[in-house]
Amino acid sequence: MKLNGTSLNSLPHNKNGKNLHSDADLNDLLTDEMGESHAATSLETPLREDAFELDDDLKIELIEKHFREIMNILGLDLTDDSLKGSPRRVAKMYVKETFSGLNPANKPAPTLFENKFGYNQMLVEKDITVHSYCEHHFVPILGKAHVAYISSGKVIGLSKLNRIVQYFAKRPQVQERLTVQIANELKQILETEDVAVIIDAKHLCVSTRGVNDVESSTVTAAYHGKFEDEATRQELLRYIGTTN
Ligand SMILES: [Zn+2]
Repeated sequence: MKLNGTSLNSLPHNKNGKNLHSDADLNDLLTDEMGESHAATSLETPLREDAFELDDDLKIELIEKHFREIMNILGLDLTDDSLKGSPRRVAKMYVKETFSGLNPANKPAPTLFENKFGYNQMLVEKDITVHSYCEHHFVPILGKAHVAYISSGKVIGLSKLNRIVQYFAKRPQVQERLTVQIANELKQILETEDVAVIIDAKHLCVSTRGVNDVESSTVTAAYHGKFEDEATRQELLRYIGTTN
């Protein structure tokens, strides 16, 4: 078996020291490594061209069926009153809530205003709640986003900043991609390069499984335009309270 020119025989042990007996073992190893390193393959969410050919109702119906099968395989008794509604509950949650940000139809329409007050300093919306989902483990990423921009003549309704964060969060994500997607969207709609996004989040795949580290959090940042200047960046960090 060859994969990227590497022979299976040259990888005789995985990280736990176990022998790799089959292609499936090697694939599991590579899949684990991809997940644990939280590597993303692109800045765009990897969606198929036909992603929205099925409507939401049909998606819910199909996911319900498949999730019931997962529960069945786990040996759960789906006639139990507590469990029997779970497949549909999960399916609706995936399509209508947790992953609703996959569908461009749910993207918040930006409402822009003229900058009539001539406010030309930095605007920071801080501590925006982030509820996202790790795309490697399908468990939550929970944290805060801080977004900032310097107006080029347009200003945006404040709650729209929260909604833009939430839209991109409601996808299977990696935190780096989420950060970049929010920054790119803000640059585009505000017609300025002067944008910054900082996210500080806990990954439940890190805290509740794997390395089981409850305390650690992950910080990612995108600084563009004037935020690449040290003084501007320090001003932002002062506002969000991460420097003295
Ligand atoms: Zn994960």
